Amino acid sequence: MSSKVPPVILNNGVEMPQLGFGVWQVPDAEAERAVATALEAGYRSVDTAAVYENETGTGRALAASGLPREELFVTTKLWNSDQGYDATMRAFDASLARLGLDRVDLYLIHWPVPALGKAVDTYRAFEKIHAEGRATSIGVSNFLPEHLERLIEATSIIPAVNQIELHPRLQQREAREFHAQQGIATEAWSPLGQGKGLLEVPAIVAIAQKHGRTPAQVVLRWHVQLGNVVIPKSVTPSRIVENIDVYGFELDTEDLAAISALNENHRLGPDPAGFNVT
Ligand code: NAD
Repeated sequence: MSSKVPPVILNNGVEMPQLGFGVWQVPDAEAERAVATALEAGYRSVDTAAVYENETGTGRALAASGLPREELFVTTKLWNSDQGYDATMRAFDASLARLGLDRVDLYLIHWPVPALGKAVDTYRAFEKIHAEGRATSIGVSNFLPEHLERLIEATSIIPAVNQIELHPRLQQREAREFHAQQGIATEAWSPLGQGKGLLEVPAIVAIAQKHGRTPAQVVLRWHVQLGNVVIPKSVTPSRIVENIDVYGFELDTEDLAAISALNENHRLGPDPAGFNVT
């Protein structure tokens, strides 16, 4: 099936599908099956990471799909223990080998890890990898505006993307505004709030009923209308299909206001300021 997902245009002119498929916590063999199902359903963007230990299965599914490389958008991430210039160069080679690719579309620093103090050196390696044509776009994940400011001051390429935790209970208004000012695309991880309770919130259920859609589709549609890139995860084929089918309806201002009111600044994951695990 061809893709039904419109792109966002990154700050380097590259098109990135606004909706992609995430594979966090999916074991390698299952990731291969899930990515194959997602590609069949029309997803063309896949979000993995070295630390997910499923780059191999992801790469196998991409190869088996027979889809032309230029139709695919592959993101992977550098794990914290590989930060630093030389370690990054080695870790990137290893990720490419596992994926079975000679380039990725987007390479992200997974976490800023402020206590390490290696983000700038790491990003210089990213700039080198980009200059070699092996990462078409480079960016970061879990960077707070203060981390981005320091990085932008010390390096030459403004990150194309910052992938951050973002869902109706953690709407990240200040970060989104900062990214917009800098020309950085905001990519939402855990866009469905990991499914935990968010999809049963009465306001969301009511909007879903009003549009004849599911709560997951309402939340994903909210992201799309906000301009976020989203990467929902599921290993259930019917949900994989459901989660990409968000382009045939529109939330109105009343719906958007009701979702806007759900913000609690509630994180499911760690606070990047103090997350120094390597
Ligand atoms: P998510 O918000 O996408 O939620 C996934 C869960 O929601 C599923 O496991 C399932 O339980 C439920 N679900 C999915 N579709 C559903 C549907 N249609 N109906 C009902 N329930 C449904 O959570 P996630 O996996 O944490 O985040 C998505 C992706 O973001 C990850 O797979 C990964 O690629 C990325 N991510 C990145 C970071 C980072 O630090 N950069 C951290 C976490 C996740």
